[in-house]
Amino acid sequence: MFMTGVRQTTEVDYKYWSPAEVMPRSVMKKLQLERLKEQVNYLWQKSPFYREKWQNAGFFPEKLKTLKDIRLIPFLKKEEIRESQEKNPPFGMMQVPGRGPFIRIGMTSGTTGEPVLIPFTEEDYFGVYCQGAVRSVWAAGIRKGDVVHVAFGFTPFMGLAASYDACEHLVGALVIPGGTWSSLMRIKMIKKLGVTVLMGTPTYLLHLAKVAQDNGIDPRTLGVRVISTGGEPGAMSIPNTGLRLKEAWGSKIFDFAGTQETQYMAWTCEEGVGHINEDLLYCEVLDPETNEPVKPGQSGKLVLTDLVGKSHPCIRFESGDIVNGIDTETSCKCGRTLSIFKGFSGRTGDIIKVRGVCVSVAGIENVIRGIKECSDSYEYLAIKNGRGMDEIKVRVEPNKDIDPSQWENIRKKVAETLQLSFMVNMSVEILPPGTLPVYELKAKRFRDLRSQGVSGS
Ligand SMILES: [Zn+2]
Repeated sequence: MFMTGVRQTTEVDYKYWSPAEVMPRSVMKKLQLERLKEQVNYLWQKSPFYREKWQNAGFFPEKLKTLKDIRLIPFLKKEEIRESQEKNPPFGMMQVPGRGPFIRIGMTSGTTGEPVLIPFTEEDYFGVYCQGAVRSVWAAGIRKGDVVHVAFGFTPFMGLAASYDACEHLVGALVIPGGTWSSLMRIKMIKKLGVTVLMGTPTYLLHLAKVAQDNGIDPRTLGVRVISTGGEPGAMSIPNTGLRLKEAWGSKIFDFAGTQETQYMAWTCEEGVGHINEDLLYCEVLDPETNEPVKPGQSGKLVLTDLVGKSHPCIRFESGDIVNGIDTETSCKCGRTLSIFKGFSGRTGDIIKVRGVCVSVAGIENVIRGIKECSDSYEYLAIKNGRGMDEIKVRVEPNKDIDPSQWENIRKKVAETLQLSFMVNMSVEILPPGTLPVYELKAKRFRDLRSQGVSGS
């Protein structure tokens, strides 16, 4: 099996962690179908929940002949998991009976309701999830001898946790936690311990660079060679965020996206290109209105099927993410054959339709991060304006060292750039630096206030 082969990393510096990364496309498709069939048969036998759900939808395992037949399987909605866990706590009906013992619990951030809990056995966690994560660590050039500081509080957030464990247990790097450290303490420790790799959310690592600068330290002199971000859209989805990080830290920038409910999904290679762990996860990109597959490489809603997890597998899970597309045709310079992931453009609720134009929050973020006078603190609101029309209001904080007399010019610049990018007018407000909160994990930058009748003041 490709997924469970733990590489002994120190003897030879292999370019790829797993042979799955360079598997010929036809072999990958075959492997995906094999694993999908195996997963579906397993659940049909072991999971009363799936059996009943599928029977009700007229699906049974024999119908699955090609990968396309996955469309015969009904979707699994986040609300279904949540309701099931409320009725049958703690893990609900998607937990396969008899699986265990569990060694780790993942938890969604609960931004859209009660958090969902996902249990992992040792096999599911170290044998599968971390094997997805370690490819990202390896592609970022993290090796034994590196000193990795994981700059986030230790929460049941799987993406960063698995990257942490991959660095420590699979690669053999020195990993330094520091959940309760202040930003200044982190800067001191980065210097003292010779940290070469920083992991965290893009928002927090940009903030950390600012703290260093405010204390008279140029982050670029600290010797951080690699920055690996997760937890919210980073360089893979918002290129200007990657450029800002690179400029602040002078490091190579990598980005990963792990899903809580299924598998560690995608990560960037040394070319800055996103790749998908397709042997672990089957991804569909569908038109959000018709549920038909979009053309290859086009934007749509992401539906995920866990091909390998056995404790709480999600099959045709509606992730709630809108993605920029998956490219199965183009080959990457890095030599990997895994499909190219073009990044997230937002959650389904984060695509705001204003006067017929779809605006993604990631798109707004990319614009703001491209304007050098704007700090990393900003938010955007969907509101009803005075005439009852939908409107987007963007609130930005200028950089601290800019004189307030320049704020109006910055406001105009942001408004013009947004207008050019989206062909729709947005109102822009300047806030004094330090007004908006600083986030360590998952910045909450978008609020939809339209149903509350807020008129944007
Ligand atoms: Zn690549």
